[in-house]
Amino acid sequence: MIRIGLVGVGKIARDQHIPALAADARYQLVAAASRTKPDLGVLPVFQDIEEMLAQGPALDAVALCTPPQARRETALAALRAGKHVFLEKPPGASVGEVAELAAVARAQGVVLFTSWHSRFAAGVAPAKAWLSTRRVREVAIEWREDVRRWHPGQTWIWEAGGLGVFDPAINALSILTEILPTEAFVTGATLQVPENVQSPVAAHVDMTNLDGARITADLDFLQTGPQTWDLTAQTDDGVLKLSMGGAELTLDGQPVEVGENHEYPGLYDRFATLIARGESEVDARPLTLVADAFLLGTRESVEAFVE
Ligand code: NAP
Repeated sequence: MIRIGLVGVGKIARDQHIPALAADARYQLVAAASRTKPDLGVLPVFQDIEEMLAQGPALDAVALCTPPQARRETALAALRAGKHVFLEKPPGASVGEVAELAAVARAQGVVLFTSWHSRFAAGVAPAKAWLSTRRVREVAIEWREDVRRWHPGQTWIWEAGGLGVFDPAINALSILTEILPTEAFVTGATLQVPENVQSPVAAHVDMTNLDGARITADLDFLQTGPQTWDLTAQTDDGVLKLSMGGAELTLDGQPVEVGENHEYPGLYDRFATLIARGESEVDARPLTLVADAFLLGTRESVEAFVE
C-alpha cells in the first residue's frame, strides 16, 4: 500500500487525481496540502507540504498538482524528506529545474515521475506501434481550445512560467515525443501574446527531425464551439490521425477500436510500477520543445485577454 499525499487541490486534483487514487487499491490517499485548506471531508488538509510532512500522517509518496511555478520548492521538500514524487505536467517551470529534481531524487534513492497524462490516452500506444515501422514525412498538430471553458480564473496560466496556450499544447508535444520514431526539434515559432499578460494566447511552431519531416503545431486558446485536439501524420505508407487528445485513432480514414481512455488510472499504475522497481521516469522533452519555441519565437502583441 502506497500512502500518498496530494499538494494543490485545484481542478485536476479534484477531477482526476482523487478519483483515480480512490479506484486503485495500491494507494491510500492519507493527506492533502493546499493554501486555502479546502474541506475534503475526513481527509486531513494542511497549509503546505512542510506542515503536511511535519504534522501529517506517514507518507510514502506525494503527488504535486500545483501550477508549474509552484512546483520546484515543493518537490525538493518532498524528495529531501525521502518521498517518491509524482509531478503533474508540465514537470516544472523550467527545463533546468527538472534536471535538478532528477539529481536530487537519485541522491535520495527515491522515485521521480514526470507524468504526461496524454501519453496514456487510448490511441497513443497503437499510434506509436503503427508509426514505428513507417517513415514520417509530415506531422500537423492542431490544438485549439477555449481557455475560458477549461481554465476559468486560472491567473497563473497567464503569468511568466504559466505557458499560456502551451499549457494544453504541451499535451500534444508529449504525444509527439512519445510516438515519433525520430526526435523532433524546434526550428522556429510565432507567439501571440496579449498585451496585458506574459504568456501566449496563440502560437505556430515549426519543427523537424533528422528524417527531415515537416512538423507544425497550430495552437489557439480562444476557440469557442467544437474543440480541436488533433495530430495528423503523413507517412510513406498511410495517414494516421489522433483526435480528441489521443482518445481516437484513424488510419487512412478508417476508425480503429482503441478502447476507453484511462489516462489518470494509467498514470497511477505507472507510478506504482516505478515505485515497486525503484526506478525514476524523467522525461522533459515536451517542456524542452516549449522552451525552444519561447527561445526562437517571434512575438506579436495582440488584444488584451479579458476573462
Ligand atoms: P488550478 O485549478 O488553478 O489548481 C491549482 C491548485 O494549486 C490551486 O487550487 C491552488 O490551491 C494550488 N496552488 C499552490 N500554489 C499555487 C500558486 N502559486 N498559484 C496558484 N495555485 C497554487 O489548476 P489545475 O487546472 O488543477 O492545474 C494544476 C496543474 O495540473 C497544472 O500544471 C496543469 O497544467 C495540470 N493539469 C491541468 C489539467 C486541467 O484540465 N485543468 C489537466 C491536466 C493537467 P491553493 O490556493 O489552495 O493552494
